[in-house]
Amino acid sequence: MNINSNALEFLIYGALALFVLGVVLSILARSKGGNEQDELVQKLEKALPGAQCAQCGYPGCKAYAEALANGTAACNKCTPGGQDTIDTLAGILGISAPVDENDDAIFTPRTVAIIHESLCTGCTKCVRHCPVDAIKGSVRNPHSVIANECIGCNECVASCPAKCIEMVRLEPTVANFNWELPNIRFKGSN
Ligand code: SF4
Ligand code: SF4
Ligand code: SF4
Repeated sequence: MNINSNALEFLIYGALALFVLGVVLSILARSKGGNEQDELVQKLEKALPGAQCAQCGYPGCKAYAEALANGTAACNKCTPGGQDTIDTLAGILGISAPVDENDDAIFTPRTVAIIHESLCTGCTKCVRHCPVDAIKGSVRNPHSVIANECIGCNECVASCPAKCIEMVRLEPTVANFNWELPNIRFKGSN
């Protein structure tokens, strides 16, 4: 009887120790994976020009670097970086640089938001979601987008309860290239 209770105790403590060890190992493995991902994002961000112009379709170089690290973005979307940046990013990611059949493959056409003013209720939700203050309008009045300040991030579209915001694609011409985008200030930046 005494031996059995000792054996039971041994089994319980043994199982507990194994459980705790498993939890610790899984935390360590997760934090190692997280660190590797952070390092990859940092390396990718460092390889980008830092213009924060959002012509890649992401609100800034860090957001693009995160998408690259997550495997959700192609490495040929940074217009200012050009071919050198594409090659560097591909090298970091260990993939082949995409082959460019035409300019569209490298230079993503600019997209900007437009608001269908007749449907706008003036609720101001889009204004609060725009990271660069590119939407103007007062409460209960139709809003509009300042096209030259819109970085095409898409954030306002989902925020609109009236579904009256649409993203339109601008043809990739010199006239449509917004040379001022790198100077646009993001909310909360210095
Ligand atoms: S397009 Fe602009 S924001 Fe995007 S990665 Fe290149 S420099 Fe940065
Ligand atoms: S897409 Fe919408 S949220 Fe993004 S910059 Fe343009 S207006 Fe602002
Ligand atoms: S979220 Fe939509 S309805 Fe509200 S102000 Fe903006 S565009 Fe108008």
